[in-house]
Amino acid sequence: MANTLLEVSGLKVAYGGIQAVKGVSFEVQEGELVSLIGANGAGKTTTLKAVTGLQPVAAGEIKFMGRSIKGQGAWDLVKQGLVMVPEGRGTFTRMTITENLQMGAFIRNDSEIEADIEKVFTIFPRLKERRNQLAGTMSGGEQQMLAMGRALMARPKVLLLDEPSMGLSPIMVDKIFEVVADIHGRGTTILLVEQNASRALGLANRGYVMDSGEVTMTGEARALLADPKVRAAYLGE
Ligand code: ATP
Repeated sequence: MANTLLEVSGLKVAYGGIQAVKGVSFEVQEGELVSLIGANGAGKTTTLKAVTGLQPVAAGEIKFMGRSIKGQGAWDLVKQGLVMVPEGRGTFTRMTITENLQMGAFIRNDSEIEADIEKVFTIFPRLKERRNQLAGTMSGGEQQMLAMGRALMARPKVLLLDEPSMGLSPIMVDKIFEVVADIHGRGTTILLVEQNASRALGLANRGYVMDSGEVTMTGEARALLADPKVRAAYLGE
């Protein structure tokens, strides 16, 4: 039996009078890579923020490992294993790579933190080379890697990635998607929010398409990639 880690149903989120998310439902099973795609302003980031406790929920339910987490704060959710890498990365620019990674383990109190930093370095050799460099002096792609590495330090049960490829050069975009696949291949469950629909669906098991605050299509990623409506609206065909 598949184990549902994250289950969102009828989620509504508003900014003042503006309904940004209008009754969204989706789920993520253990071991899956699920992609949430859609155009600019479709409500993807708002959905992630509501799930991770950063934006109040107007209606609906959010369950993590079978229990309601609605209304819980971001800190408590990270402790439970729901960890987001935000759009724009949010690295600590005046800290070194290693210090940033240590910050990712702030909720932990165990003896494996150093060993986990070494594991992150095997996924991101570039971070190891630059371990003593200040994060603020790194390129956008390197900072994205650092933000992902830092999130892994919290040992996420579900890793939520918000637009990891945004603003990066084509070579860096390739690298970032390779790394997302690698992290998934090593056993981490991932919810990937992306405007780059073809790359995101190319990696995913399943996908959800959002438009104007609603989920308009869902299915196996391969089927969505082949769907003429998806191809016309999101793959520029
Ligand atoms: P993007 O790829 O641009 O981040 P998105 O699909 O993630 O797009 P959201 O950022 O969730 O979309 O935005 C959904 C809607 O909510 C948009 O109409 C946006 O203008 C609006 N919105 C987002 N943040 C705020 C805010 N802080 N205050 C008011 N409206 C907001």
